Amino acid sequence: MKHYMPVRVFSESGAVEQNAGLFRECGSRCALITGKSSAVRSGALADVSEVLNRGGIPFCAFDGIEQNPSVRSCITAGRTASAFGAEFIVGIGGGSALDAAKAAAVFAANPELNEEGFYRKEWENTPLPILLVGTTAGTGSEVTKVSVLTDSRGRKHSIHDDRLFAAAAFGDPKYTASLPQAVTLSTGIDVLSHCAESYFNRNADEISRAFAMRGIRLLLQPLREAAEGKEPDLSQRQALYDASILGGLAICGTGTCFPHNVGYYLTETRGILHGFASAYFLPALLEQVMKKMPEYGEGFFRELGVSYEEVPTLIRLCLPENGITMTEEEILSVLPRWENNNSVRNTCCEVTTEDIRGILERQFMKN
Ligand code: NAP
Ligand code: FE
Repeated sequence: MKHYMPVRVFSESGAVEQNAGLFRECGSRCALITGKSSAVRSGALADVSEVLNRGGIPFCAFDGIEQNPSVRSCITAGRTASAFGAEFIVGIGGGSALDAAKAAAVFAANPELNEEGFYRKEWENTPLPILLVGTTAGTGSEVTKVSVLTDSRGRKHSIHDDRLFAAAAFGDPKYTASLPQAVTLSTGIDVLSHCAESYFNRNADEISRAFAMRGIRLLLQPLREAAEGKEPDLSQRQALYDASILGGLAICGTGTCFPHNVGYYLTETRGILHGFASAYFLPALLEQVMKKMPEYGEGFFRELGVSYEEVPTLIRLCLPENGITMTEEEILSVLPRWENNNSVRNTCCEVTTEDIRGILERQFMKN
């Protein structure tokens, strides 16, 4: 079932302060879930604390969420929230903290739940209400019912559930002004991946394509300038953030396809930032579509108003030097992971395991 807009989204300067009443509506005790420093550096924690203090809402803060968060950290965060008697969760940060906040809302309502029970969705109690404050312009996690976590074996999995939708999400472009350039680029290119993987997805429809197309249009110019080394101004930050929300809405309807799933492997084994990891495979997605569904691919570039070559060029400009190497043995040993894989199958044209083998070999086998 596709849900495009169940989350109330406020994407504007002053979004948190202007919607203080929504915090009160969610409950009278709160748990904040954040990463180590971004909530402070972005200024978002100060705004949220101010709103909670003014509303007389006591809160506890859990700041132990790492990048590509582990289920273990989410269990600790959820149990901390439960012990405090939190009635709602506020996640502040990039996709990692926001995804962790969704899972923490599950564990806070079900403090006895373990990792297996979480993935099997043996959630006896409804997750606590969730509010999300984004500090990257990237994942669109604010509007999705998805939480991407790393399991105890070190594998990234996404869990999808309607109960993970936030009650509301707040984005203020000033929060993204403190992003280091590498994270601006990695998260910006993640938006491009979401929009393209949604557009070139079997589940795409007129609504998801409209979100995806508009997201890319908003994104191209500010992302190109950021890749050329120019610091985005506030209106460009706003455009990048709005594009990230549009990308989130697009994948909310369709899911992602093979670049994201294959990219998880680069993050797990090489620690590559999430956005870069998927984007390494984005040119290959475009090539596959142009080869196997040329009319659909050409229609996309026509509507976008750019030539085919411009997109891979922009991707290369954003990506750091590819120092990744893989041996034939490694590629062969990891390939089974993409056999009968749902995300790979969601690509609008057929992508076989042999195709993925070729993509990995061309990109990472250095002779
Ligand atoms: P992130 O992992 O949340 O953050 C990357 C780094 O940037 C962290 O070191 C973080 O610091 C820092 N940072 C964040 N905001 C900052 C700011 N305003 N100023 C300075 N530093 C800041 O990055 P992300 O790309 O947004 O999220 C990636 C995660 O989201 C991945 O796990 C990915 O799989 C997931 N994802 C989820 C969805 C979804 O629909 N749910 C979609 C795509 C991706 P701190 O550590 O201090 O926070
Ligand atoms: Fe992503």
